[in-house]
Amino acid sequence: MAQGEQHSSKAIRALDWTSLLSYAAMACWLALRLAPLVPERSWVVLTAALLGYLAADLVSGLVHWAADTWGSPDLPVIGPAVLGPFREHHRDPLAITRHDFVETNGNNCLISLPVLGVALWLSPRADGSGSLFLSSFLGTLVFWVLLTNQFHQWAHLPAPPPLVAFLQRWHVILPPAHHQLHHTRPFTSHYCITTGWLNWPLNWARFFPVLEWCITACTGALPRRDDLGTAAAEQVLAESLPLQQSSRAETRLMR
Ligand SMILES: [Zn+2]
Ligand SMILES: [Zn+2]
Repeated sequence: MAQGEQHSSKAIRALDWTSLLSYAAMACWLALRLAPLVPERSWVVLTAALLGYLAADLVSGLVHWAADTWGSPDLPVIGPAVLGPFREHHRDPLAITRHDFVETNGNNCLISLPVLGVALWLSPRADGSGSLFLSSFLGTLVFWVLLTNQFHQWAHLPAPPPLVAFLQRWHVILPPAHHQLHHTRPFTSHYCITTGWLNWPLNWARFFPVLEWCITACTGALPRRDDLGTAAAEQVLAESLPLQQSSRAETRLMR
């Protein structure tokens, strides 16, 4: 490994640890603030936790799609910390199974820190301000976001632990066969990786192809150009769109 790469991987490791420890400190602080209110308003917290689970699946899809599709891994900070690991995952899907807890979960902790800050800011205070529902929702959302990369890693394990295999079989967490659809050509669907439940409605609505088409139409930016080059990225975009949108995109791209 070159000296520059060594420094860079040490910096990423330090960033992962800092993110993980900051996440743990803020999550404990939030839990201590909310815990006294749980016994008398448990339904509020339970509903918020379930909605947080669903929202984590949506967030996992949006972040995964954005990191797979836009920007270069050479960008400062976000490149090596977030974009690089997602791109590496497509080149070597089993590499994630060799990552330890810190490497697997550090970047999810990093993106969760601002949300935890908002959850703390919204947590109920003695003067009656704040919202138990919103702070519980955001707190549980980042808890499930933290577990998302773990669920994703387990979906790639050849022989997961029995309890994990049980939860995968009942589709409580991301099942390997379902996730494998993301790792199948053209690699442009099934981005949700917490449970994968939302992949069905998002695929049905052609959510990500239409979103890509809108962004390309508004900004001229081409999805996946950094990874595939212009010609291949244009072809993938045209193939992933509904027929009439595809021809409009092709017309625009030919100009
Ligand atoms: Zn991906
Ligand atoms: Zn994967």
